[in-house]
Amino acid sequence: MFKTLFFILLSLSSLNLWAEVTARWLTVASVLIDDGKTRILFDPAWTRPGVLHWLGVNQLKSDETLVKNVLFKNKLTRVDATFVSHSHFDHAIDAPMVSKLAKSIYYADEHNERLALAYKDPAIKMVRVKPYKKIKVGDFFVTPLPKEHSQILHLFDFLPGPVPKDTNLSFWDYCVGETWFYLIEHPLGNILIDQGAAPFLDRIPKSVVKVDALIQGVANRKNDEVVLEGYVKSFRPKIFIPIHFDNFFFEFSEGNEGLLPGVNLDEILLKLKQTYPSMSVNRPWYGNPIKILEAKR
Ligand SMILES: [Zn+2]
Repeated sequence: MFKTLFFILLSLSSLNLWAEVTARWLTVASVLIDDGKTRILFDPAWTRPGVLHWLGVNQLKSDETLVKNVLFKNKLTRVDATFVSHSHFDHAIDAPMVSKLAKSIYYADEHNERLALAYKDPAIKMVRVKPYKKIKVGDFFVTPLPKEHSQILHLFDFLPGPVPKDTNLSFWDYCVGETWFYLIEHPLGNILIDQGAAPFLDRIPKSVVKVDALIQGVANRKNDEVVLEGYVKSFRPKIFIPIHFDNFFFEFSEGNEGLLPGVNLDEILLKLKQTYPSMSVNRPWYGNPIKILEAKR
């Protein structure tokens, strides 16, 4: 009798019946997805370049002390997996250090791998990502979806092309490489995370019929319609979280960097609320978890 009860309880708990999934915005396009058991980090980029990096005088390396502090303050001494959207410094710079410090597997493409290998540190653990190849991390399945990086101000490509094979981590070596967005499937629902504003609907497998939570970049958008008529229109998610609105030209200061010039965050959030009144539109605040998926009661 007790044995049966025990196994029933055990199987109920493994179904995650009372669980929730949260998202914590940590800077630029960096978001931590957490279901209470497993933590997945996207685009960690707290280290910022200065003039000597732009001039190519100093190497642009992840600031170990800074990353250690951020992880410690956010109680992230363990992160299970790290993914990045492309190899520009404002998305990829701290991923190797997170792998080292939080014992995270860094799911990297060839270009991210080149940047990480330049540290010559065996504590950085990497697994190569492939387009559409699902990766299981705890109860999550993460699918890397290929896309293209938008032009800056719709005028020019910033650091296009591959990361050099023999990079010595010059600022100018953080070339775009490949660009990805991610579908994250969990027993509680689906999450789509794209650091860019322009949608790539044709890259999402037809089998994906719903997205419950959308986490999307709003910087560098051509107009508000690209967001309003994009993923939100096709998938009608329950929750929308904007990212990539803060000024990463300033030193990292826990979300107090101010807005990226021209991003107009309030306007897009208001338009999203007006166009999709049943969708919850959440401006994220640094380090504060937002519940994005929950078990039905
Ligand atoms: Zn970029």
